[in-house]
Order: sequence, then C-alpha cells, then structure tokens
Amino acid sequence: MRYLSTRGDPARRSFCEILLEGLAPDGGLYLPERYPQVDAALLARWRSLSYAELAYEILSLYIDDIPAGDLRALCTKTYTPEVFGTREIVPLRRLEDGVYLEALSNGPTLAFKDMAMQLLGNLFEYELARRGETLNILGATSGDTGSAAEYAMRGKQGIRVFMTSPEGRMSPFQQAQMFSLQDENIHNLAIAGVFDDCQDIVKAVSNDLAFKRQYRIGTVNSINWARLLAQVVYYFAGYFQATKDETERVSFTVPSGNFGNVCAGHVARMMGLPIERLVVATNENDVLDEFFRTGVYRVRGSADTHETSSPSMDISKASNFERFVFDLVGRDGERTRDLFGRQLSASGRFDLSGDAAFAEAARHYGFASGRSTHADRLATIRDTWQRFGTMIDTHTADGLKVSRAHLQSGVPMVVLETALPIKFAETIREALGREPERPARLAGIEDLPRRVVVLPADTARVMDYIRRHCD
Ligand SMILES: *Cc1c(COP(=O)(O)O)cnc(C)c1O
Repeated sequence: MRYLSTRGDPARRSFCEILLEGLAPDGGLYLPERYPQVDAALLARWRSLSYAELAYEILSLYIDDIPAGDLRALCTKTYTPEVFGTREIVPLRRLEDGVYLEALSNGPTLAFKDMAMQLLGNLFEYELARRGETLNILGATSGDTGSAAEYAMRGKQGIRVFMTSPEGRMSPFQQAQMFSLQDENIHNLAIAGVFDDCQDIVKAVSNDLAFKRQYRIGTVNSINWARLLAQVVYYFAGYFQATKDETERVSFTVPSGNFGNVCAGHVARMMGLPIERLVVATNENDVLDEFFRTGVYRVRGSADTHETSSPSMDISKASNFERFVFDLVGRDGERTRDLFGRQLSASGRFDLSGDAAFAEAARHYGFASGRSTHADRLATIRDTWQRFGTMIDTHTADGLKVSRAHLQSGVPMVVLETALPIKFAETIREALGREPERPARLAGIEDLPRRVVVLPADTARVMDYIRRHCD
C-alpha cells in the first residue's frame, strides 16, 4: 500500500514514511492510494475476532512495511482489558430499540482519543527504535488531545513530550490528569495565555526549520494518518455488535470537531462495511453542519468560534475535512488544491452547492448532519439519565440529540460516546444537579503532586525550555 497527498503531489510513500509526519510536503493530507475492500465472507470471518485481532487484520491491509508478527504484537500490547477496562474494549450499550451507545471512552484519559493515541505511542516507539532515532513531540492542548498524547507516550523509549496548555483554563479534572504524571519524559508547560497562544507558539517553533531539525520536533495532531486508521477499527467492532449477520446495515452518529473521527467512518464505509448513514453532529460551531446542509464550507475566525460546553468540538475549521472532499471530487488533486490551497486561503470559503459532487455527499457517501446547542445538551443529558439511568457527557449528548433526527426503522443507530461525564463535571451538575460518576481508579487525582512549569506566552522561552531538557 502506498500513500498519496490530497493536493496532487506525484510522490508515493509507505506507511512508516508518513507515520511520523503531519502534512504532506505540498500542504495536503495523506490518504491511501485505494481503499482495500472487504466482502461479506471476510466480515463473517472477522465477526468472532477479539478487538486486538480485528485491529491487526484491518491495519495489515494498510501497512506493509512492518513485519506481520511485529504488527500483531503491537496490536495485542495496545488493546488490552487492563488499559481499556473491558474484554470488548468498545462495548455497545442499548439505550432503547434501535439506539445504541458505543463506549470509546474507557481508556486511560476517558476520551475516545485514547483509542488511536495508545496505538500511536506503541507504533512511534517501535519505528524510532528501528531507525535508531528519537523524537520530541511538541503540542498544544485545551484538554483531551494533550492528555491522551501524554498517557500514550509516558515512559516510551526515545520519545519526549512537551505539551503546552493555557494556564488555568482546562477543567480541574483535565489539569489533574495531565499534571499528576510524574514520568521524566513528559513536560507540562502551562502558558500564561489562551489556547490560541499555545497554538501560535507551536506553529512558530515548527516554522523554525533549523530548530525543528536540531531538536527533532514532531507532533501528534489529528491529521496524522495512523491515528485515523486506528479509529477505523471501532466502526467494524460497533457494526459487529449491533448486527447478527452481514445482510444488516447500521448508521453511526459522530460528535465531530476536526472531522477525524467521522472520516474514519468514511474510510470504513469506503472499504465496504455496510454503513447506511454517517451523521455528523456539531455543537454551536457548526462549520460542518453548514457544509452538509448547504454545500458551502466557510471557516470561522477566532471571533466567531464559540466557547461551548462541548469544548472538544469548538473548532473554526475542520482539519481532516480535506480528506473527504478529495474523495468527493473524484480524487482530483488539482481541484482539492484549488479548493483548500487557493479559495479557502483567499476568501475563507468555497461553495460546492452547484456541483454534482455535493449531491453525492448524501447519496453516494451516506453523509447527513445536525447541530446541537447548550440547551439541547442539557435536555439530552437529563432525558438520558431519567429514562435510561445512563449518564452521558456533553459531546456524546450532542451526538445523541442529532441522531434522533436520522433514525430509520430496521437500521440500528450507533452513537459514538466520545468522553465520560467526569471530564466535564460543571455541565453535568448544571443538567442533573449531582456530581458525575468517577471511575474508582481516578479517585482523588486532584490531590496528587503536580509536575508543571508556568511560562509566559513567549516562543523564545518555550524554545529555551526545550533546549535545556533535550540532552
Ligand atoms: C476530539 C473530540 C471530539 C471531536 O473529534 P474529531 O475527530 O476532532 O471530529 C469529540 N468529542 C470529544 C470528547 C473529543 O475529545
């Protein structure tokens, strides 16, 4: 399997060549040259596999430069009941007839990002050892990504993590999760500023090519292909749990921000998994809902990006969306470059409403969408608690709310649960007037000793810190 860029660069790369990369050199995103196909017979065989075995089968269709035995061992080591809490890894819970929650949030940091990041940690460690190299991961987080990255990379050979976050702005639980890590290779840098300051610092450091090379700076952001690939697996696992045989179809609703999660669903569907609809659920930051309703993709400035009670979906543009649009326009790299490289940078928007391709988004690719607000979130959390005795988080509530407009009889609807309520306690208190449930292993983490340094929002100071902590 070779990988290409969505912007038409003729170069083709192997999986391990792009594993540690972000954007392709032409500014595009990596995708496989073709989607491997599964048929009913293969699905029937996969139905009885454990999650780790299923992950191996799917990954091996996309990765041909890691020996099979090694890849299998990496999957087995990653997806264990010890790390993810259950034997199923992503158990499906029935809420009512035809509506299910797929639990993706029982990993170490209680959000679905662990599903991919835990594998990425093991893949990075393996590949760096094979090359005899080391890597310093620099990131910016407002909560979920940074903690998932730190818990995936802690104690890994050859890897250090420098994670910036806006001082005092993450939820108390998220701060406790990250700052209580005592591993030598994890560095928490609380920046006196807002999330945008953190992102600007990461960008500035990454643009300093000499520094980047000398200190081997890398990232783990959501455009990384390996992260997306790891997420494809749980669409298969959800399908198998919601059906009895391969004649059945299933729909998924996905709480979406950067379009990484639902893009993995798109890949699964392109492989031939019988998915009826892929419903994109947004919060008040409805860039994606607007596109699927109107054909207009219009990125927002920071002034019109709302701070909401489902903060991990507070995006101004959806960084993985280009992957889907590339498929939508018939894998035309020139066209994709024009849309994302030229039109979007010139005017902040493009319009496919008059294009035959846009009509295909629903008909051929199964996409649908909807939007949820703070009031919807509260009502859905309350209703789910009262009727089913199930406590859901704010992002999952956005998904469940939007899914209700897209139910079809005879087609199970699987809503992806993307985080546990304890991460967003304030809104749970507002909705239910009670404290969220907390997994026993996380009792009292707020009281643990903390390892964090506070730095001003100054790129030079962050670079200096990195210099002093890389041998
Ligand atoms: C990251 C995140 C999302 C958004 O996922 P994307 O892949 O960016 O679309 C939704 N919910 C939670 C809890 C998250 O952490």
